[in-house]
Amino acid sequence: MRYVIIGAGPAGVTAAEALRRVDPQGSVTVVGDEPEPPYSRMAIPYLLNGRIEEQGTYLRKAPDHFDKQNIEIRHGRVTRIVPSTRTAELEGGDFLDYDRLLIATGSQPLMPSIPGADLPGVHPCWTLADARQIASRAAAGRRVVLIGAGFIGSIILEALAVRGAALTVLEMGDRMVPRMMNEQAGNLIRRWCEARGVEVRVSTQVAEIQDLGNDMLRVVVTDGEPIEADLVISAVGVRPNVDFLAGTGVEIRTGIVVDSRLQTSVHDIYAAGDVAEGRDFSTGGYAVHAVQPTAADHARIAALNMAGLSAPYQGSLLMNVLDTLGLVSASFGQWMGVEGGETAELLEPDAYRYLCLQFDGDVLVGANSLGHTDHIGAVRGLIQGRKSLGAWKDKLLKNPTRIMEAYVARAKLYA
Ligand SMILES: Cc1cc2nc3c(=O)[nH]c(=O)nc-3n(C[C@H](O)[C@H](O)[C@H](O)COP(=O)(O)OP(=O)(O)OC[C@H]3O[C@@H](n4cnc5c(N)ncnc54)[C@H](O)[C@@H]3O)c2cc1C
Repeated sequence: MRYVIIGAGPAGVTAAEALRRVDPQGSVTVVGDEPEPPYSRMAIPYLLNGRIEEQGTYLRKAPDHFDKQNIEIRHGRVTRIVPSTRTAELEGGDFLDYDRLLIATGSQPLMPSIPGADLPGVHPCWTLADARQIASRAAAGRRVVLIGAGFIGSIILEALAVRGAALTVLEMGDRMVPRMMNEQAGNLIRRWCEARGVEVRVSTQVAEIQDLGNDMLRVVVTDGEPIEADLVISAVGVRPNVDFLAGTGVEIRTGIVVDSRLQTSVHDIYAAGDVAEGRDFSTGGYAVHAVQPTAADHARIAALNMAGLSAPYQGSLLMNVLDTLGLVSASFGQWMGVEGGETAELLEPDAYRYLCLQFDGDVLVGANSLGHTDHIGAVRGLIQGRKSLGAWKDKLLKNPTRIMEAYVARAKLYA
């Protein structure tokens, strides 16, 4: 069996290793277009804040790790797939034949479509190459403008602040992390950042970036004073890497649509990770959950199915955990609530603590939390368990911090 995996990020590497475990004889080739050994983007903030060196971002540390497992890591860019001949074509004319193909190509950052977005000194923060550029410009005291305070923007924010950059964050939405946090939580994160010297402007759109010469930039916003900057970082969103699939018949919506076996609409072509739009555990619908744990789960399940085993996927639970300048926040499942559902809320603004639980009937279906770290496993367990809370629902409506007790009680009852 010839397995070809496109993309050498966490999804590609996890799938290759899982395939090797279940099929010791098959040939496993991973094609990746970045020059470095397979690495984890999620380690980039630690590189920027100086906690690790570049090698610390590598997914596997031993240089002979892949050779020892008889996994070929090949550098190259796939430009076309031809399902009828089961061929993946590479830039330069080479091609690879496959029996089972996994697309694990992740996504790429979008740049704002405004004048000046392509100036030197304006960067996304997505690859190791980006991180090197940012590190060279974001020294202590330098002025940095971060466009976008979503999940990725808020993660980078921490690293930039630790480097001592003078930071301004611009967010189009009316609060920070608007697609992950409700108003109370998003506004508390903003207050927390401001109290630590970060300027945060919400409901603000960037109109233009101007080159002032001498490596200086000016960021013009639609409402408010322009801001001068040594570096502008864009974190405004991503799009899946799917261009090479044109003409294949692989169904693409927000990402590549995969079934409960992680197979695409084309037989023997699978997809995993940030590029895949798979089952959403909470809604039963389809969603792109662009986090590393989902990439790894997708990859393991896809690999088992590619190898001919039957491994259904129950869907990924939306779960994002953020550490913003030391304030830990999290969102789970249907954190925004469901129609006809009930909400338990406890806000302690002075202590920067907040807990908001969402119920559908007497089942916990989502949550936002801030400043609470001890209950994350319990919230996840209760949502994934999908079990009726019975009398515990009223107790949680009165005091949501009793979530751990509720979890233990339900675990005993359903054991
Ligand atoms: C700064 C930052 C911080 C993050 N922090 C967190 C975090 O704290 N927690 C978390 O869970 N997630 C985090 N993430 C998200 C996480 O990194 C992604 O969910 C994860 O990398 C997805 O893995 P993947 O393998 O699907 O895609 P990727 O890691 O993007 O890997 C895909 C690879 O495929 C390559 N490729 C694309 N097209 C082709 C082609 N045609 N031919 C060959 N190769 C190709 C790409 O260049 C890339 O190397 C962070 C991301 C960033 C950018």
